[in-house]
Amino acid sequence: MDTRISRRNLLRAAAASAIPLKAVGNPVAGTFALDEEPANSASGNDRILDMHVHFDEKNPNFIPDLVTLAERMNLTACLLTPYPHRAEVADAAKKYPQHIVPFGFIELDAPDVLAQVKDFHALGYRGLGELEFVKKPYTDPSYVPVYELANQYGWILFFHTGIVLRRTVDQPEDVASYRMRAFHLEEIARRFPKLTVIGAHCGNPEYEWAAEVARWNPNVFFDLSGSTLTKMSARLGEFKNIFWWSGQGEWKTETPANDPSAFVKLVFGSDSGLEGIPRVLEQYRALFKACDVPVSTQKMILGGTLASILRL
Ligand SMILES: [Zn+2]
Repeated sequence: MDTRISRRNLLRAAAASAIPLKAVGNPVAGTFALDEEPANSASGNDRILDMHVHFDEKNPNFIPDLVTLAERMNLTACLLTPYPHRAEVADAAKKYPQHIVPFGFIELDAPDVLAQVKDFHALGYRGLGELEFVKKPYTDPSYVPVYELANQYGWILFFHTGIVLRRTVDQPEDVASYRMRAFHLEEIARRFPKLTVIGAHCGNPEYEWAAEVARWNPNVFFDLSGSTLTKMSARLGEFKNIFWWSGQGEWKTETPANDPSAFVKLVFGSDSGLEGIPRVLEQYRALFKACDVPVSTQKMILGGTLASILRL
C-alpha cells in the first residue's frame, strides 16, 4: 500500500457504483501489447510476474477481470488475498495457474495469526503478504513464530517497507512507518534463510538501505511500486548510484541466474489496481532506460526471478 490514495479504491468505487471496469482508465481494452515494446526484446512470450496485486474485495468480478487482463498482458499475479477470500482464490489459482499465484494477506498482530497461516498453507498458498500496519517493528519477537513457520514452508514473505498512508485523520491510529523500515528485513532474511523476503516500495524513501540489504542477502528483493517512480520520474538515473555494484563481484552475493547487474535485486510489483498495471510497467521500463539495465536483467526483474523462486 502506498502513501497516496490507492488506485484500487477507484476500482472499488467503480464496482460499488456498477461502472464497468473499463470505464476507469480502460487499460484492459487498451492498445497495450507486450511484443511492441523494444525494451522487452523481440520475444512476446516472456511472462510478467507481478508481486504486488491486492485482491479487490469490492469488485465482485475481480477474478474474471484479473484473468482477462492477465491473458492480454501474459501476466501472472501474486494475488494478496484476505483470509475470508482464501478458498475462492485457492480455487481460482487452481483454475488459472498461469495467471494467479495465491498469497495470504494476514495481520501479524492478529491473535489467531498462526492458525491463519496454517490454513493458507493447507490451501496451497505460496507465501504471505502484504505484511503491513504492524503494531511493533517487523523484528519484534512476537512475530517470530510466523517467520519460523513460513521458513519451514520455504515461503516468500512480502513486506510493506517505508512510508505508509494515513487511513484516518480524525481518529487515533496505532501506525508508524519506522516499524516497517527496509533494514528490518535484513535480520529476518538472515535468521530464516529458507525464506525469500521481498520488500514493497524499496523502503521509500530509504532506497539506499533497501538496496544495501538486498546486496548482501541473496534472499532479499524489493519492488518499486508506489509513488517512487512518479516522484523520481525526472531523475531515474539516480538509481544507478543506489544500485551501484553491477559487475563488482567482490561486493555482491549470489544472484538469480548469476546476473551481475545490481538491478537484479528488483522485482516487478504494481500495487495500483488492475487498471494501473500497464502504467507501472511503463514506469519500470523508463527506469530500465534511464539506468541502462541490460535486457537480460530486465527479463529477470519483470518475471524471471519470481518464476525461478516460485518454480513456475
Ligand atoms: Zn505497501
